[in-house]
Amino acid sequence: MSFAELGLMPELLTALDAVGYTSPTPIQREAIPIVLSGRDLLAAAQTGTGKTAGFTLPLLQRLATTPVLHPAPKHRIRALVLTPTRELASQVEESVKQYGQKLKLTSMVIFGGVNINPQRDRLQRKLDILVATPGRLLDHVGQGNVDLGGVEILVLDEADRMLDMGFIRDIKRVLALLPKQRQNLLFSATFAPEIKTFAQNLLDNPAKVEV
Ligand code: AMP
Repeated sequence: MSFAELGLMPELLTALDAVGYTSPTPIQREAIPIVLSGRDLLAAAQTGTGKTAGFTLPLLQRLATTPVLHPAPKHRIRALVLTPTRELASQVEESVKQYGQKLKLTSMVIFGGVNINPQRDRLQRKLDILVATPGRLLDHVGQGNVDLGGVEILVLDEADRMLDMGFIRDIKRVLALLPKQRQNLLFSATFAPEIKTFAQNLLDNPAKVEV
């Protein structure tokens, strides 16, 4: 099974050639066609399985090939990825930039512990994909720097860690700001009971993948 057989577009295949991936990992084989189909996804996958490419590749393709779904907001963000830590947020955004190098999509990462002003300035310009930690994202929401009313795809990466770290209230506050019509992808290392409950409330008839 090749990346091309999973239905990925030539621009992404070129980028994958450049980074030297020759064949998809199991989570990529399972997740990519589901995400491309527009369906919600509940995936159990550890770090190291290739999960990041498993959601960033089809996310990029969805944005590149589908018209804007919620055209209203001024500073429209089409995809929001929430992660528990700044390190993970940075890695995910690096992947977005690397895999999306042949596509005309823009991305940015925001996390706490650094000056908020440069982030605020960057948020004024066109932005398709925002990767963020929940607390700093809410700081920007509070300052009126970011409008989440255009989000078409939401990814919760390492959702179990986000719940363990006490981000549940922050995440619920973010969810309340998103349009109802959107695609949701939830990645977690385990399907612990609290993740299952959380996923049941969030996801609409999700495909389930476990590797
Ligand atoms: P992740 O689980 O997303 O943190 O990815 C783990 C590592 O595997 C990262 O360093 C990726 O660059 C690498 N990787 C992801 N997908 C592939 C692939 N299909 N072939 C080779 N390496 C990969």
